[in-house]
Amino acid sequence: MRVKEAPRETAQSQAGAREALRRYNPRPGQALGLTLLSLEAAMQCRVSKFGGTSVADADMIRKVKAIVTADPERQFIVPSAPGKRSSDDQKVTDLLYLCHEHARQGLSFDEVFSLIAQRYHDIAKKLEVDPGLDAHLQAVKQEIARVAAAGQGPDYAASRGEYLNGLIIAGFLEAEFFDAADLIHFDDRGRLDEDKTYREIGEKLKGVKLAVVPGFYGSLPDGSVKTFSRGGSDITGAVVARGVGASIYENWTDVSGLLMADPRIVDNPNTIQTLTYRELRELAYMGATVLHDEAIFPVRHAGIPVNIRNTNRPDDPGTMIVPGDGNEKHTGTITGIAGRKDFTVIALEKAMMNAQVGFGRRVLSVLEDHGVSFEHLPSGIDTMSLVVSDSQINGKLDDVLEGLRVEVHPDSVEATPQMALIATVGRGMSHIPGMAAKLFGALSGAGINIRMIDQGSSELNIIVGVHAEDFEPAMRAIYKAFVG
Ligand code: ASP
Repeated sequence: MRVKEAPRETAQSQAGAREALRRYNPRPGQALGLTLLSLEAAMQCRVSKFGGTSVADADMIRKVKAIVTADPERQFIVPSAPGKRSSDDQKVTDLLYLCHEHARQGLSFDEVFSLIAQRYHDIAKKLEVDPGLDAHLQAVKQEIARVAAAGQGPDYAASRGEYLNGLIIAGFLEAEFFDAADLIHFDDRGRLDEDKTYREIGEKLKGVKLAVVPGFYGSLPDGSVKTFSRGGSDITGAVVARGVGASIYENWTDVSGLLMADPRIVDNPNTIQTLTYRELRELAYMGATVLHDEAIFPVRHAGIPVNIRNTNRPDDPGTMIVPGDGNEKHTGTITGIAGRKDFTVIALEKAMMNAQVGFGRRVLSVLEDHGVSFEHLPSGIDTMSLVVSDSQINGKLDDVLEGLRVEVHPDSVEATPQMALIATVGRGMSHIPGMAAKLFGALSGAGINIRMIDQGSSELNIIVGVHAEDFEPAMRAIYKAFVG
């Protein structure tokens, strides 16, 4: 089968990304704490992480090569394991977990493993590379059996998806392969050992022209493999970006960036061109997913922008996630809208609650006693609302209500289930009069009753609580009011 070459990334899309970078991170050296000399080097390299669908088969990996060779700054490539080629396909990582589970139960995993082997053979054959695949597969299979028999966890098995893909991709790109176990280190308690990791990455990747570092895993002090949580190749990319002092962390996936709203609810929403790390946190917390939550911290710390790009549409500039320089223009625009259903609001009322020392602490101690965390805590003069997610409160609601009655003797306490929260987020919203009025006007115009309002102190977001059945209409009304 002939494969259509991936469209080349145009000078225009690269220029667009550079311009966004220049505008929002004008002095990256300052954020990174680099000397002028190393700043020069830092300005010249990117880390490009490719997600599972971007490396799912040989055709996709050819697109990856076109992207990598289009810009010599793309020096550090972090691949995931082969993901789904279609909606009913299997992720290699899932199959590897299954192998471990079979082995752990003393069952044969030959059949599942042969599916995995077949995928890699197919990729390697089509790309005409052979990194000694047979020997690697055999060693992996034996080790999965050994690890499971020794009663160890599934991390080794799961990590081999990235490892084997990395070997093949390194061969195809003619790049140097680095085992992530030698670069990414966890401490005895399974937390990233930052000092050691950044030191090793800095030392071992220094001066390398083109490197492939498989995503998702590293090693524990005893040398055994440990993975990040699922989707963790994003974290590897961020850690490598920080370790090498990259100028940009590119995250290549199958969408052209983050959308302003969920496309299942709002028709054809715009792509967000630029947002700050803080805005991303707000939107991600409320359900917008594009990057692993933990991937933000390493790059944020170092002030490295993240560029979400589409492997199938390399011309699209994607979304740029930037540090934000504190001088954002208050344009009256919003960045995005996100929301989540399945919340319960517990409303407490007690006259003179504001004058009672320790009232809030006692309320929260009831939640703590029942192991329930809260999401928001909007309060009025004689009222306080506890917004908790249903996954936390289910099965405990009656006990919590009773606990509150006993502990703080409220005038009334009432739970409203089936609430949805919607966050309207934007750095351009702050200090602009009338933003809240516009939002509430849009909702009242759509006949939606607002049950709760919470505005973050940063004025970066306004969160409203509505009944679950108003969730979708509310999202559409807000989008229409602010975007059109
Ligand atoms: N392959 C791993 C997973 O499926 C990690 C990743 O793709 O980021 O979770």
